[in-house]
Amino acid sequence: MRLATLVDYLDEYLRIPAIADSADAMNGLQIANGGEVHRVATAVDVCGATIHGAATRPGTLLIVHHGLFWGGPAPLIGPARDRMAALFAGDVALYSAHLPLDLHPDVGNNALLARALGLPVAGPFGEAHGHAIGVWGELAIARDVLATRLADLLGRPATLLPFGPAQTARVGIVSGAAGSMIAQAQRAGLDTFITGEGSHHTFFDAEELGVNVFYGGHYATETFGVRALGAHLSAQFGLPTEFLDHPTGL
Ligand SMILES: [Zn+2]
Repeated sequence: MRLATLVDYLDEYLRIPAIADSADAMNGLQIANGGEVHRVATAVDVCGATIHGAATRPGTLLIVHHGLFWGGPAPLIGPARDRMAALFAGDVALYSAHLPLDLHPDVGNNALLARALGLPVAGPFGEAHGHAIGVWGELAIARDVLATRLADLLGRPATLLPFGPAQTARVGIVSGAAGSMIAQAQRAGLDTFITGEGSHHTFFDAEELGVNVFYGGHYATETFGVRALGAHLSAQFGLPTEFLDHPTGL
């Protein structure tokens, strides 16, 4: 199918123009290919490995959560030049969806994480760029049981900062690097906050605000959206789709 048709669909389905984000996110089509798409590949990150996975066949649209331009303009030398050359040589188009894929109600990382954890979503939570990107809900469960459920889901144990109650009541989720949102979680009346990663000093936020914080890994908390979006496009357009798993362990 035509790349332009697929891009129009994605822009509308993910509400790309309506959702403010970091300028570096550059949501939407980042690199065009020759104009025809025969296959969709999805990945959390664009990097040499995922570009090479996408470039195994010409006419692939690679959809990622973290696109090419984080960090702003930079000279196309070294690995940056190699990535660009591989995209062009492989006839790969690149589409990025950052916050639009965190907050989407059907294929968003946070809604899907909540569903998989058995957390009924009561509302949005976690403000970034003027949008509530996360979700929260009521979940009366032993903190240890939640830790086990999370480890099973993410394929790795989460780091727990155990400063809230041993029995959870109100749980929030923001995928990725949302350690800076612990105070927001506390202000929202949450006793437990699940995210991917946070800086060292966020330990003291959790400790002094009395919140349980689970750090489940940036990568591990952000595979849900791109995988679900691939499945959605496959059902919608009959395109073969593949999730290119390239875990960072971070
Ligand atoms: Zn992220």
